[in-house]
Amino acid sequence: MTSQPDLDTQAATHFNAQPVPGIDSPFDAPFATPTVVPTGIQPPPSDASENSGLKFRGSLINLIRARHPILLVETHEADRVVRAVQDVVSDSRYLGADRAVQLFSLTKGLHAPGEYGRPQEPDLALAVAMNATRATIFVFFDLHHFLGGPGTGAPGDPGLIRRLLDMAVEFKNGPFGHTLIIVAPALTLPADLEKVVSVVDLALPGRAEISAVLDAIVAANARGVRVDLTPFERARLIEAARGLTKWEVENALARAMASDRVLDAADISLVLEEKRQTIRKAGLLEFIEPAGSIDDIGGLENLKSWLAKRSGAWLPEAADWGIPAPKGILITGVPGCGKSLTAKCMSSMWGLPLVRLDVGKIFAGLVGSSEQNMREALQLAEAVAPSILWIDEIEKGFGGATSSASGDSGTGSRVFGTFLTWMQEKSSSVFVIATANKIDALPPEFLRKGRFDEIFFVDLPNQAERAQVWSLHLNRRLKKGRALGSAFEVDALLLEELATRSQGFSGAEIEQAVIAACFEAYSERREMCLDDLAHAVRSTVPLSVTQAEQVAAVRQWAATRAVPASRV
Ligand code: ATP
Repeated sequence: MTSQPDLDTQAATHFNAQPVPGIDSPFDAPFATPTVVPTGIQPPPSDASENSGLKFRGSLINLIRARHPILLVETHEADRVVRAVQDVVSDSRYLGADRAVQLFSLTKGLHAPGEYGRPQEPDLALAVAMNATRATIFVFFDLHHFLGGPGTGAPGDPGLIRRLLDMAVEFKNGPFGHTLIIVAPALTLPADLEKVVSVVDLALPGRAEISAVLDAIVAANARGVRVDLTPFERARLIEAARGLTKWEVENALARAMASDRVLDAADISLVLEEKRQTIRKAGLLEFIEPAGSIDDIGGLENLKSWLAKRSGAWLPEAADWGIPAPKGILITGVPGCGKSLTAKCMSSMWGLPLVRLDVGKIFAGLVGSSEQNMREALQLAEAVAPSILWIDEIEKGFGGATSSASGDSGTGSRVFGTFLTWMQEKSSSVFVIATANKIDALPPEFLRKGRFDEIFFVDLPNQAERAQVWSLHLNRRLKKGRALGSAFEVDALLLEELATRSQGFSGAEIEQAVIAACFEAYSERREMCLDDLAHAVRSTVPLSVTQAEQVAAVRQWAATRAVPASRV
């Protein structure tokens, strides 16, 4: 039996816009001051944060003019690259007249856009390109399969790499000024090529481009679909689609329309859900469901009050107070004392989505190149902005002078640099909460003033805080487990007593003691009694004892460098 495509897929295909018309004409683009502009040639379009294609075009023009021989664009959106190249070439004001475009793929070989070629080996195609006698921009797909690196499972082809090096020299100094653009979803360059290849970023579509896609898809389906969006709802729909590729935007909108043949405010959540799926698929960020509120954290009053004061910083009205959007905080401290718990509770505290970045995956090499992974993760976090980006155990990625996870100092420091630059320059509403156990393993640049708004130190809970943590966990268990009964009352006296007995315990150890007491009761199928708690406390040897030296070292480090999370 042949399997049928599901209805959603059919619908999405049916409703997709036919060729989406030009995003906007380069003639309309605003202009920036050029660096080196030959007479009679116009400067490139300037950066437009609303339109990433425009920004990409500007970078292309500048690099081609400066005769960068080989460019690398890491993207899944090959069609947007070709489109931008064609736009740049078609307007003689940018690069002068008479520049050709040639594309290469394994299945079509070297061919002009719109033509059908024949399968061809990349080395042969590069040899042909090298001998071209008309200024040409060569756009090569599929080359990454031959260049080695993580994910390919094979070393790079030495002959091909040499060919590229030769080409770089020829293209730079030769009479024609050719350019080779390598397009790959992810590529770790072989060391030989690192210095001759310039990386160009093609960010995901901006608002203007999404708006154009929306117009196109609506126009293409004008007869079958009703659009019922106020300008405000339309803006929200566009916002919801940010973070998706153009292809994904088209599919998400098509699916939204297909469900009821109406495009209205109800579709915003559909598009948002599509975005969540995409972010999940990328595998770099994980959505953390809101867990608990500020009241579920025992103690840490200083940290909680800092966060509470900034909770409305994303609202438009905050601008009236002239306050900058907070950048982020770094929380370090003794393990098990509430660093992760605070991150998890922030989502409901601030009412913003919380996404966790797994630094290990950035370097794992399973998904793509580490730098590209980092850029993509940051873009995705921005796509759900305003949002909270939680980087757990940040020292595992950026620890030491570079990265231990990367196993290669060059990659580690570049990825680290990408993150720091983003942190420094970010204007998006992404609040970073980084948690670290071994902060002294982090490079000093990381801790420089201005990177994070504050560095907090979470110490072992003091007497009052332990009482609070006991209260939270005991009450939670007693409420959940009916059979635990009410053999005792959780009053101030009991909490005081438990706090005294559990001196040196972390919050996690207190929680574990409560759980152990529950097991005692359960094993005998009876209510929990005070003895169970006392026994659990007696049998716990806290980390502050087993790892006394490490705990002392962390405290000493923090004494002069971090702000206490607890009220002292
Ligand atoms: P690690 O570095 O080992 O991950 P951490 O500081 O991030 O440690 P958490 O994961 O926040 O520790 O704590 C583990 C668990 O211990 C929490 O889920 C929570 O149940 C409990 N806990 C720790 N600190 C507190 C606290 N201050 N208030 C309430 N519960 C706490």
